[in-house]
Amino acid sequence: MKLSLKYLILGVAMLTLVLTLVSSIASGYRVQKQSLIESTLDTNRAYAQKLSSTTDSFLKMTLQTLAVSADKLGSHLTKDEVAHLESEAERLTSQTETFNSVVIAEKGGEILATSPKTLELQGKILTSEGGMAALTKREAFISKPYISLTGRLIIFISQPIFDENDNYIGLVGGSIYLKEENILQDVLGEHFYEDGSYVYVVDSTGRIIYHQDKDRINDFARENPVIQQLAQGKSGAMQLVNSKGVDMLAGYAYLPTSEWGIVTQRSTKATLVPVTHMMKEMIVKALPFLLVSILIIIYFSNQIANPLQKLAHYAESSTQSNQEEEITQIRTWYYEAIQLKRALNFSMNFFQDRVNFYLHQSTTDPLTKLWNRRSMDEMLKNWTVEDKPYALIILDIDKFKRVNDTYGHNVGDEVLKFLAERMQEMTREQDHCCRLGGEEFVILLPKANEKAAYHVAERLRKKLETTVSPCGEVVTVSLGIALFPENGAHPKQILESADQSLYEAKRTGRNKTIVSTQNSAHDTTV
Ligand code: GH3
Ligand code: MG
Ligand code: MG
Repeated sequence: MKLSLKYLILGVAMLTLVLTLVSSIASGYRVQKQSLIESTLDTNRAYAQKLSSTTDSFLKMTLQTLAVSADKLGSHLTKDEVAHLESEAERLTSQTETFNSVVIAEKGGEILATSPKTLELQGKILTSEGGMAALTKREAFISKPYISLTGRLIIFISQPIFDENDNYIGLVGGSIYLKEENILQDVLGEHFYEDGSYVYVVDSTGRIIYHQDKDRINDFARENPVIQQLAQGKSGAMQLVNSKGVDMLAGYAYLPTSEWGIVTQRSTKATLVPVTHMMKEMIVKALPFLLVSILIIIYFSNQIANPLQKLAHYAESSTQSNQEEEITQIRTWYYEAIQLKRALNFSMNFFQDRVNFYLHQSTTDPLTKLWNRRSMDEMLKNWTVEDKPYALIILDIDKFKRVNDTYGHNVGDEVLKFLAERMQEMTREQDHCCRLGGEEFVILLPKANEKAAYHVAERLRKKLETTVSPCGEVVTVSLGIALFPENGAHPKQILESADQSLYEAKRTGRNKTIVSTQNSAHDTTV
């Protein structure tokens, strides 16, 4: 298939349209994605910060509650008052709803009271990691997570108890069971999880102490870049790939009271779902626009290409015929097409003139402007094929050699032209005057009978006889007439018959007309 201008324009315009659309949708997507990522990071940073300060307040309040309790217990920390101690332990678990269990122990580590009682630790020595650390520290204390005597992962929060003289006498502390239902769930909240975001908390060693997925509690995630930041006491937000290979948008906040880090995060994929929706909607909404644009493009590419296409078509077929009129009717409305139309018209006219000129040259005699021998042969051939009757008059100037000899060749030429003019004057429009060569001429008379042909011949002969020619003298002619089909079936026979009559006219005195009497029947072999 040949590439046409129309399809080229159409192609380029479509390509531009599609590229523009694709790039605007792509850049829209990029901008939306970036802003959503940034706003999600901001939200998560702020949320982690808020959770951090809530958790911090909670821990401070818990230490405060234990401090008040420790203060009250200062004067009752004896085995004699176990009932009092038990009721205080009971109060701390049930009223505060902070601890999964509470323990009150004297400074040697002996457990005086617990809540719930079912723990059955009374009288035993506090040997848990958190308990022993608290006994050693003798100050407000939040333990690292550890496995308790009962096999649970817990954190232990405690306050020292002093007597009236500020002597250390024991501790009151509560445990939070990290893998069971606990206060942290209330503090950190769970409502946030439905949109694919979640919260987790790590201690200073990178151990997960709170996670929505309980199986992950007690795991270490030190490789995680967020946890590395938290280990340095930093807060902020970042995009990262987590230990499970999921791209995440995380906000994180460091919690100085307990040296914990709180992370709130959401998967980037879940975050970007609305952008994908929006892009789909945008494409759907752009479709009508796209369709209208395509129609407009088709219309304009047609308008632009049509004139050139038509001009190209006529240029291609310009050799066949003159299509000037059709070309004039092509509506050209812009510079290039107008100029092309002009050029095409001009060149077609020019070449038509040339063609006409050469056609004329090849069919006429340059001196007399009469048809030449070739044209005469052509006409006779056609009429014979079409079986069209005609009369043929052949004529020859009498004693023309003498005219040339006497007046010169140029004057002779003038006489020939003069004779040609007279021939045309004396014949009808449908008759054809030809120059056979030298001073021999032929007149072809379609449909003429013997009488009519004889009449024409005589009229010409008489005219010449009575008119002075350019040489200053009268020149006469002798004429022979033959008819088709009467005197022959072929042009050659007709010419010969006429020539014989001419010869006869010359022989019998010149300046006369003789009609051939030859019958076609007797000589059909030629
Ligand atoms: P006749 O009556 O027997 O026809 O005698 P004629 O002298 O006309 O016969 P001939 O055929 O012997 O001479 C023809 C002359 O015509 C010879 C030539 O000089 C002249 N002639 C032929 N063609 C041209 C031409 O184109 N121009 C001129 N000026 N003379 C021509
Ligand atoms: Mg002659
Ligand atoms: Mg002659």
